[in-house]
Amino acid sequence: MSGSGLRGEPLNYDAVIVGGGISGATCALVLSHFGWRVAVVEREAHITPLLRGFSRHGVHHDTGFHYAGGLGKGEVLDRFLGFLGLSRKIELYPFKRQGFDRIIDRSTSDVIDFSYAEQDWRDSLLAAFPHEATAIDRFQQTVLSICDSMPYLNTKKTFGEEGLFAHSQDVSLQSFVAELTQDHRLRAALCLHCLLHGTPPDQIPLRLHAAVVGPYCRSVHGVRGGGSQLSQAFDDCLQQAGVDSFCSSTVTAMSVGREGEIAGVLLASGQKLVAKQVIHAADPRLLLDWLDERCFRPVYRRRLAALQETQSALVLFGRSAQPVDALAGRNLYLADLQQGTQLFSGTIAQRPLYLSSAGQGCGIIGIMPEDYSRFEPWQNTRRGQRPDDYRHVKQQYCEQIMERIDQTVPEISQALQSPFLATPLTLRDYLHYPQGAVYGVSHQLAHYPLQVATRVRGLYLSGQALAAPGLMGAMVGAFYTCGTLLGHQRVAEELNQCH
Ligand SMILES: Cc1cc2nc3c(=O)[nH]c(=O)nc-3n(C[C@H](O)[C@H](O)[C@H](O)COP(=O)(O)OP(=O)(O)OC[C@H]3O[C@@H](n4cnc5c(N)ncnc54)[C@H](O)[C@@H]3O)c2cc1C
Repeated sequence: MSGSGLRGEPLNYDAVIVGGGISGATCALVLSHFGWRVAVVEREAHITPLLRGFSRHGVHHDTGFHYAGGLGKGEVLDRFLGFLGLSRKIELYPFKRQGFDRIIDRSTSDVIDFSYAEQDWRDSLLAAFPHEATAIDRFQQTVLSICDSMPYLNTKKTFGEEGLFAHSQDVSLQSFVAELTQDHRLRAALCLHCLLHGTPPDQIPLRLHAAVVGPYCRSVHGVRGGGSQLSQAFDDCLQQAGVDSFCSSTVTAMSVGREGEIAGVLLASGQKLVAKQVIHAADPRLLLDWLDERCFRPVYRRRLAALQETQSALVLFGRSAQPVDALAGRNLYLADLQQGTQLFSGTIAQRPLYLSSAGQGCGIIGIMPEDYSRFEPWQNTRRGQRPDDYRHVKQQYCEQIMERIDQTVPEISQALQSPFLATPLTLRDYLHYPQGAVYGVSHQLAHYPLQVATRVRGLYLSGQALAAPGLMGAMVGAFYTCGTLLGHQRVAEELNQCH
């Protein structure tokens, strides 16, 4: 903890930020840039725990960051990282332009490449679906025009007051691709990147999907050293900015003044942090427990309570002695495109498996959608103390995933040393979303998008629940929240001065 203060003696800040993920840490850096005295509260032992990864048997494994769009020179994330001071502390590297993401289709053994730079994106998909030029062009044009219409994704637009990515009058990705083509395999390929936000194609608003995947049409980068390097850069910048980080500290309540204005937060230790502005950058549903029910209108409470989580996952971790060629500068998606757009259901042999060794070279991660409900029988067990039948199921799943890799890319299965699996229960305990969500709460067509300001004066929302998941979504959300507090124009002018 870098913040201090005697237990029970309130500490005063201009703003307290709840949750020290990418969103919370970004909010803290932006506000401190404008001279605010800021504290961040994070329940884990370090800031940005999801980026930091973990060590097992002395070996480090990366978790929450492998690649991103929008990091090319002058693109939106590049500008954000420059402004925050993170660019100076990390080294970016480009993914392979041709086939940064490569699908290997189990049903046909075809290889389908997603490439970046607009023409290459189109041409590589067209090589796999030569009769589908119209559908491919329409998909790309629609996705890019949606991105370009959003002030936060288009650096030439005014960083303004318009809404964020989600839109109440939208269509689902699934109905959009169903209109484009009759080819089930192409439909599946165009929906596969739902793995990057964890909401199925029939529920994700097209605009949200476009905002997440569109930037990958233009450039794709990783960070040398992976998420842990980015995490270290956040630590350094927060320290230099004089932000007080309360780590291993859990917020348990918020206090509200007589006029209904926010007054601060209470930590599990009993410590009070006083502030006229509080930014909530963790699961928005937590507010239901932390505030008196009169603080929000019943309809808003119902809306928060109805938020559903994104898909959970099985996550395979392992290391290779040498970097594996098949994963050099690209990720693989082992998929069964005959399954169509039912990406999150089916057997282990049918569900898509994302494989990456981005960032660290020898660390390999595999992510496959998985329902939390399959692990409900063990939901009351604790990490490190789970029973034999759970461990048996986990081992079986690990072997089945390894077999799947072995059938398609034996180079990877042979190189993988001591692979092990994280289940939805592991994710639940690690990420603090009750159903083990990979990307927090889901942005669904059926839900009205969350807004930054709440009815409690001085209490604002940020986080992946506000804009979108991913480094991009988390940072856009953070800048948007800070723009609401500071004035969007003021933030935009400072951002522009960095370039
Ligand atoms: C396996 C995996 C791989 C991923 N790969 C990529 C990738 O390649 N590229 C990409 O762009 N994105 C990727 N992501 C997504 C990206 O990491 C997330 O979208 C992003 O980190 C979310 O940041 P956030 O700050 O909004 O949310 P979170 O990281 O969830 O931050 C919320 C924070 O609040 C803390 N918290 C919760 N409750 C409390 C409380 N009561 N008191 C105090 N603190 C609390 C939590 O510990 C957490 O640190 C990946 C995610 C996962 C899980």
